Amino acid sequence: MHYGFDEDEEAFRAELRRWAEKVLAPHYQTDDQAARFRRQQALDMAQMGLTSLRIPEEYGGQDATAVIAGIAAEEVGRADFNAGYLIINTALISDILVRNCTPEQRQAWLPGIASGETVPCIMITEPGAGTDAASLSLKATPVGEGAWTLHGEKTSITLGMAADRAVVLARTGGPGARGVSAFWVDMGDPGISRSPFDDLGSRAIGRASIHFDGVRVTRADLIGEEGDGFVSVMQGFDYSRAIIGLLCLGAAQQSLDEAMQWARDRVAFGQPLGTFQGVSFPLAECATYITGARHVCYEALWRKDNDLEHSAEAAMAKFWAPKLAADVIHQSLLTLGHVGYSTEHKVGQRLRDVIGLEIGDGTAQVSKLVISRNLLGRAYAP
Ligand SMILES: Cc1cc2nc3c(=O)[nH]c(=O)nc-3n(C[C@H](O)[C@H](O)[C@H](O)COP(=O)(O)OP(=O)(O)OC[C@H]3O[C@@H](n4cnc5c(N)ncnc54)[C@H](O)[C@@H]3O)c2cc1C
Repeated sequence: MHYGFDEDEEAFRAELRRWAEKVLAPHYQTDDQAARFRRQQALDMAQMGLTSLRIPEEYGGQDATAVIAGIAAEEVGRADFNAGYLIINTALISDILVRNCTPEQRQAWLPGIASGETVPCIMITEPGAGTDAASLSLKATPVGEGAWTLHGEKTSITLGMAADRAVVLARTGGPGARGVSAFWVDMGDPGISRSPFDDLGSRAIGRASIHFDGVRVTRADLIGEEGDGFVSVMQGFDYSRAIIGLLCLGAAQQSLDEAMQWARDRVAFGQPLGTFQGVSFPLAECATYITGARHVCYEALWRKDNDLEHSAEAAMAKFWAPKLAADVIHQSLLTLGHVGYSTEHKVGQRLRDVIGLEIGDGTAQVSKLVISRNLLGRAYAP
């Protein structure tokens, strides 16, 4: 068994850590306070290749492995958790476009994502369809040969206020997953209106409800074949779930590092806090769990890179890592005492932010459905 990152991966991690600390970290709290997406952030990240990790070189991308995308998410998560949403969205969406689009569509759509000029979002959730995504009802009504108009509402869409383009799942056929198609939609269409959410966390990225009132799309905007949209989009989630796990673990590790430094420096009862096992043992437990969860995330990504089945590992990563990150960040906050409870410290914001990804991209329950289906067999799926 060969185990560990290679030299290039370690060098990428080290370079990215330095860059993220310098360029991203200073904006983490101010962007949250402004509750507004900063376009310059997408352009800065694009310059580092972070919006084009999964895009082939011929379209301006890095053609990076899934493991490299995971390292990127982990390091960005340490500096600015919310900037990590750009990695998730661009990696997930470009993966879907690369796998399902024609060469002409790829040429037209991928370079803009790579350069950071096209901020993309993905629209699945609706007011009446969340976990049960295959029951979505946004209607694509045929208007002549090879054209449709979209009517309905999507909700809870990350970057929904800022995005320029969207992967939109719409119903072109009958009920169930097979009646769903995916379209690449211009968010500047006059038939689209948006309204923002007022969220607990990730306020710099934001979510929105999007109304479609007669938005015209054609076969040229169709991603893959008519009726294949649900499956082709959901396949992308398999690996983006492990990337989400690493983004959350990056924020957790950074919080734990800060708590450990505090345990070394802060003196109580005449000795450093870290000498009390009541302080050091919870930190030791956090470090142990983070180590375990990281292994699951990287195994899922390594399996993806090696064309091995990885749905169960990605689902394990998705249900465990965000929940664990919330627990570790909470413990770190407690270790920092009254200092951690102040909004001047980043740890409280990290806690608000990671909770969002306990829900976004699928809850723990849906991940456990995937894991148990893999363990017990399809016949035992509800
Ligand atoms: C931060 C954030 C970002 C998001 N970004 C996007 C985005 O970019 N695009 C997008 O399309 N959506 C996005 N979403 C929406 C997200 O995908 C949904 O919230 C999620 O799939 C759950 O759907 P729901 O909220 O409607 O919950 P529901 O489906 O109503 O479920 C409510 C609760 O019941 C549980 N539950 C449901 N069914 C079962 C079952 N069969 N067995 C056991 N428990 C069950 C759920 O786990 C959950 O705890 C985002 C959400 C958040 C919070």
